[in-house]
This record gives sequence, C-alpha cells and structure tokens, in this order.
Amino acid sequence: MVNEELIQRVKYLHQQIKYHNELYYELDSPEISDYDYDNLFKELKTLEKNHPSLISSESPTQSIQDNKLEIFSQISHESPMLSLSNVFSEEEFISWLDKIKLNTSKKILELVSELKFDGLAISLTYINGTLKHAATRGDGFIGEDVTNNIKTIDNIPKNIYSLKNVAKIEIRGEVYIKKSKFIALNSIRTKTGLPPFSNPRNTAAGSLRQLDPKITRERPLDAFFYNIAFSTTQIPNTQYEILEYLNNLGLQTNPNNQKIISGDEVLKLHNYWGEERSKLDYDCDGLVIKINDINLQKQLGSTSREPRWAVAFKFNSEKSKTKILDIQVNVGRSGAITPIAILDPVYIDGVKVQSATLHNYSYIQKKEIMINDYVIVERAGEVIPKVLEVIKTSRKGDEKKFEMPENCPSCNEKLFDTPNEAAIFCLNSFCKEKLIRLLEHFVSKDAMEIDGVGKKLVDILINAEYIYDISDLYFLNKDDLIKLDGLGDKSADNILNSIQSSKTKPLNSLIFSLGISNIGKEASIILANHFKNIDDLINANEDDLNQLPGIGPKMTQNIIEYFQAESNIKIINKLKKANLKMTLTSGYESNIKNTNVLNDIKFVITGTLKAGSRSEIDNLINKHGGKTSNNLSKSTNYLIVGDKPGSKLDDAKRMQIKILTEYDFIKMIE
Ligand SMILES: [Zn+2]
Repeated sequence: MVNEELIQRVKYLHQQIKYHNELYYELDSPEISDYDYDNLFKELKTLEKNHPSLISSESPTQSIQDNKLEIFSQISHESPMLSLSNVFSEEEFISWLDKIKLNTSKKILELVSELKFDGLAISLTYINGTLKHAATRGDGFIGEDVTNNIKTIDNIPKNIYSLKNVAKIEIRGEVYIKKSKFIALNSIRTKTGLPPFSNPRNTAAGSLRQLDPKITRERPLDAFFYNIAFSTTQIPNTQYEILEYLNNLGLQTNPNNQKIISGDEVLKLHNYWGEERSKLDYDCDGLVIKINDINLQKQLGSTSREPRWAVAFKFNSEKSKTKILDIQVNVGRSGAITPIAILDPVYIDGVKVQSATLHNYSYIQKKEIMINDYVIVERAGEVIPKVLEVIKTSRKGDEKKFEMPENCPSCNEKLFDTPNEAAIFCLNSFCKEKLIRLLEHFVSKDAMEIDGVGKKLVDILINAEYIYDISDLYFLNKDDLIKLDGLGDKSADNILNSIQSSKTKPLNSLIFSLGISNIGKEASIILANHFKNIDDLINANEDDLNQLPGIGPKMTQNIIEYFQAESNIKIINKLKKANLKMTLTSGYESNIKNTNVLNDIKFVITGTLKAGSRSEIDNLINKHGGKTSNNLSKSTNYLIVGDKPGSKLDDAKRMQIKILTEYDFIKMIE
C-alpha cells in the first residue's frame, strides 16, 4: 500500500530532478553538487523499486537522463590538454620571457601572439580526413565525447579532402558564441517566456553538453582553432605556419594572430587589445603568447599542469584602493604560515573583498606594508586577491609595523624558518589548525569527495578530539557522532555513509587528498597511472620520480620527504586498515565479461597503453576470444599502438598490418 506521503515525496523528487537537470544541461549552472544530485536520483530509484506503482512515464528515471555522470562516453586525449600559466602584469610577462631566453640561451625569440577566447576547449580527431571524435578538455587526460554535437556546428568541416591520406590528426580549439548571436538568442528566449542565459561562455559550454544534438544545432556555436596536438603526417615546424595550415584546411583561425619578435611588441599589443577587445564580437580575456619554433617548444616541454613554451597574458583585472585594518596569519595544511591583510571591505568587479594575501614576510618587507596603510588591491580571475602596493602619500602617521609571530598562532609551537624558502612553517604534526586545513582538503570535491563532511563538521570533529589525523575519519562510529551537538540519528548515518563510499575513490584522488606539497590533481593522475599502487609510490626513489614527465625536481623532493616521515606511513597504514582502495583499477578491468567479439583475431601491442599493463590488456583480449603475440607475422591482424611505440610500428606499416590506437581497440570490444 502506498501512502499519500510517499506520493508527495515522489512528486517532489520529480520536480527537483527536472529542475536541476535543466540547470545542468540547459544553463550549465548547477546549484547543487553532483553528489547531492545523485542522492536525489538514488532516493527516487529506491522508492520506485520498492513501490513499482509509483513509476510513471514522467519520472526522470524513465528518460534518457538516467545518470548524467555516465551519459557522455569518455575519450582519452592523444596528448594531455593542458591549461596555460597566467601572468597579470608587464613585469611578470617580461620575467617569463627572460626565463625562457635563459633556458634556451637565445637572445631573440620569435613569438606568436593569439587572442585568448573565453570559451570551451575542444579536441577534434580526423581519421583519413573524416571528423571521427570530438572531446571536451575534461580533466586534461580524458574528456567527454561530444562528437555528435560538434558535428552540428556549421563552420567545423566534417570532411577535409586534403587530409584524406592522413591516418590521424588531433586538433585543438575553442568553441564559443558570438556576443551578437548571444544577444539575439536571449531576446528570442525572453519572447517565448524562457529564462535568458547568463553569459556567452556558460551558454557555449552548456550547449555543447546537450544530450540531444538537435538542441545544440539550434545554438549559434562557433569555433576557432589554434593547435595540432598529434599528427601522423608532417606538419609545419612553426606555430605561425601551423595556424596558416589549419586555416587552409578550413578550420577557422583568429584573424588577429600575429608573429612578433620582441617583448616590447607584446606589451604594445597587450595594451592595444586591452582597449580594443570590447569591440570584438567575442569575449577575450588576454593574449596567449607562444614560442614560434615547434622544436624549441618540444625542448622546453611541459610541467604536469602547463606547457613552458606558452603563457596567457591576462588583460588588466580590476584594482581598487582600500585600507588594511589588520594583518593576521593563517596556518596552511602544509604548516606554512601566510600573512593575510584584513581589509576595509571593498567591491571589486562586483565581488566583496575583505581580505588579501600578503604571501610571506619578505613580501611585506619589500613592499613596506604596514597596518592602517592604504593599498591597491587586485582581484584577477578566480585567484585570491592580493595587495599590489602601498599608497605612501596617504599615510597619516598611525601606521603600525607588523612582525611575524615566533610561535604558531594555533598550537604555540616555535615556528621553523626554512633557509631556502620565503615561508616559515609550523612543523608540529599535531597542530590543530594544520589538521583542520588538511582535513578540509582531504574531504574536498577533487580529493576524497566526502560531501557529508563540510567545513563546519571538520571543525567540530577536530575540536571534539575525535580526529588526530586524516585516517581517523574512517574509524568514527555512530555512537560518537550522535553525542555531538546538533547531530541526529539520520545525519550521523548520512555522514558515515558518505565516508564509507569514499573508500573506493580512485588511486589518483587518494594521492591528491594526502596534501603532499606541490602535488596537484594532474600530478596525482600521473603518479597513479605510473605506479599503479600506493606501495610502489612509497618505495619510489628520486630516479623513478624524476624520469616521469610532468614531475619536477621540487615535486620529487616533496614526495620523498612526505613518505620518509614515519607519521605519514602510519596514516597510510591506518587507511589500508580501513580498506581504502590503494591500487589502480583500470577502466577495462571492471565488468569484463567473456565474449567472442574478437574470435581468433590476432593482436600485437607496441608502446605503453594508458589504461592497463601489458598483461592486463592480454588478458582482456583473451577474454574476448582474441589472441596476442609478441611478434608481428603475416597472420597478425592488428597492431595496437600506445605511447612511445617501438620499431614494430614501422614494421607493421611495411607489412600492411592494420594499426589501431588504444581508443580504436576499445571501440572494438565495446
Ligand atoms: Zn601549529
């Protein structure tokens, strides 16, 4: 028997899920986390399962938007889609350029200046001249497959005749909406009673991630292209010629790209476009400056996050004048003590700014910053506001000098002054403030994603002395939790459930969540993919780490230091005891069913595959009825090519054996 209360609840869930679907898909501006969305969905599914009479054709469970996280299939990028490092001032740009000149021992560097669009980065793959895949950036390594939607964009060619004989080429660009088209689109929406979109960038992103390509087709999307990430054919060896090459292929490039040879020219261009950009029909928030010579680009390489051969030179952000009311210090999760300026609140770019970072004590000394000083504060993009300079002419005589404390403001332990770094540290591993920051990081979205544990609860748990290190989180029990103020039976269950479900987070999330200095999301993915389990990472030596692309010497040092500390090994052991996932499970490994789709097909593999070891892939092929061999022969059907392929690739071409990318191969068994 289904009671009225349940019927009402189901109705409410329908309405909520539809509302959030619209925000996510149509407007690309979700109000709730994926986790909360999934919980709504799960609750509805459970109710329907227990009471089938509640299922109606209107239920969101009956439509295609079953689980939005799994809707788009995934595509691995041939080379990672990195983001760019930013500079915000002329000094920062010149010092970037000087560093490159120093590293390459070149006095004159040819550069290319491109406008930086505020759109959505995409990667297109053409196979023998036909557009085969289009993917979003995703996490930089794996993106969402938006091929069908990209095909609705008129100015992106579906076939390029001159690439007919090119086995594969991967091209990078940006999808955007013209300002004029955006205004027209919104005026139509308002006339038909639909809510207007908030801005062109979000609209472009939301439109591209529509489930129904018909909706994407109705949106006036456009694209510019600027890079070739991979190609099986010879491509030009300068960035400027690559732009011309792309243009000749019919892939639109921006007409304002320019080849230049001096830093001064860049500064002039930057000033010019800073003024003129409002006249452009698309949003543009800076210049991208690239080294023109592709060989030099390769020589400079990339960090795990960004290429060293390009930089985004942002246009002037908003600055404002205000007063420093006080200077306080924060304890970071690594123990670094950061001075913070408490400001007389000021609105910059519509955002209320109440504090700004002062970086470290030597910054305060260099800029001669004092309490009660009037200062220029800058807020650029999403970064923390910073104090740029003191307006010394506004001084009244009541300014007070600030001294760094000698003891930790949280635990009172003597602070440690590092000789090589500007920062000073609290080294006490039981420092409460440090632990709070670390636990906040540990539960955050990109780390272990424990939504049930927010900032407030982190504070409560640590102050109640339930938690002395991050691993204690997994040993909480319900009896302890309900003793806490304001926690009921149900919320205690929810908290424990969300902690429990974090145990299966992938290895890279676990590595990131440990909060090792300088080890960000991307570096964690690289480490997880390479070492495949936590023990091999713990036992890695300097050489093992240094040889990994994207892991610099500083990161290497931080990793080694982290695992040398006995207290950290204790934490890892406790996490193991709590049954957290400590090994990499490849996407292939899960749910393998035996099939015959590869019946008697013979494969040879060369190079490193992204998603599994050689034996895992062998195993996978066998499970689908195929055969593998170490050597090419006349009876070989396919060569699967991974990263850094060996001589087998050339042999296979000569022997006219079909060549598959890892992605092509996966398509065969899906
Ligand atoms: Zn401390």
